[in-house]
Amino acid sequence: MTATGEHSSLQTPAAGSSARPWRDQLATAIRSPAELRRRLGLAADPTGDDHGFPVLVPEAYLSRMRPGDPDDPLLRQVLPLALEGVVVDGFSADPVGESACQAAPGLLRKYRGRALLVATGACAVHCRYCFRRHYPYQDRPRGRHWWSTAIEHVAADPTIDEVILSGGDPLVLGNQTLAAILSDLGDIAHLRRLRFHTRMPVVLPERVDDALLSALVGRPWPMVMVLHANHPNEIDAGVATAIARLRSVGLLVLNQAVLLAGVNDDVDVLARLSNALFTAGALPYYLHVLDPVAGAAHYAVPDRRAQDLVAGVRERLPGYLVPRLVREVAGASGKVPL
Ligand SMILES: *Cc1c(COP(=O)(O)O)cnc(C)c1O
Ligand code: SF4
Repeated sequence: MTATGEHSSLQTPAAGSSARPWRDQLATAIRSPAELRRRLGLAADPTGDDHGFPVLVPEAYLSRMRPGDPDDPLLRQVLPLALEGVVVDGFSADPVGESACQAAPGLLRKYRGRALLVATGACAVHCRYCFRRHYPYQDRPRGRHWWSTAIEHVAADPTIDEVILSGGDPLVLGNQTLAAILSDLGDIAHLRRLRFHTRMPVVLPERVDDALLSALVGRPWPMVMVLHANHPNEIDAGVATAIARLRSVGLLVLNQAVLLAGVNDDVDVLARLSNALFTAGALPYYLHVLDPVAGAAHYAVPDRRAQDLVAGVRERLPGYLVPRLVREVAGASGKVPL
């Protein structure tokens, strides 16, 4: 690698200039099952039921789906199905016991040494398999008074060395709000890492705009952004640009996926996902088995099959492209490997 050659590519890649600002795209996102079907040229569903979890799909994500294909792997993540109404034993409204972990308003102490700041309940997309699908997503306009309480708690507890901005999706917050949160956290001497868990750079890559990069640059700790893509078709040129931009300001970019029947329960698809992520500049980190949330049982993949799939990926790819297969267990101090 030469200083003039490779290093010159570390300049911040430009965001797509023709794209509309992310807030406009979010404001005009698809919000009904009927519109989603119509836009993809699919037959109407007479029930049109969203099972109490509204549809939310930005255009940028829709544009990666195949029109006319009801089995499209991206569509399957966001389209309500009658199967969601089937009650299945063991699938509940709060499968990971999250409501028991609240240490302060908006602060979850679930994992040892790490605190989750639930910065907002809102997301840029609604994933049908989400374990938070039964939470009241929309009803939380929050201001500085709210996160200052959470940050005081972090400041008072030196055993916390990492804050994870989570949600919902923390990148639904505006850049000024994020910058203010990061600045407040920057005053806490015992923090060593800062992490985001977000699906936004995947579903709405224009979110990684210049002002976000400005808010991220120059912070006192290394930062990690864990993306959430489940299928290689989600990784398009816009996503690759967003990842390159995050890396250009020094972030480590990882991905977590959820293993979903009918979406990515296939060795070839998982291997292609790892390859697409790596080509775009992100490393596969976790492959989660489904949290048993009510309404999502049709996405479940048996443990044995999950282990076989990951073994299949391991046969094909180098170790750094094989995600760790894990499960969320209520009350455990971290993810549990399968
Ligand atoms: C698993 C998980 C974490 C913690 O992840 P570790 O890498 O095990 O510390 C934080 N946030 C979300 C949303 C997670 O799914
Ligand atoms: S983006 Fe994440 S938190 Fe939001 S609905 Fe999808 S899986 Fe759930």
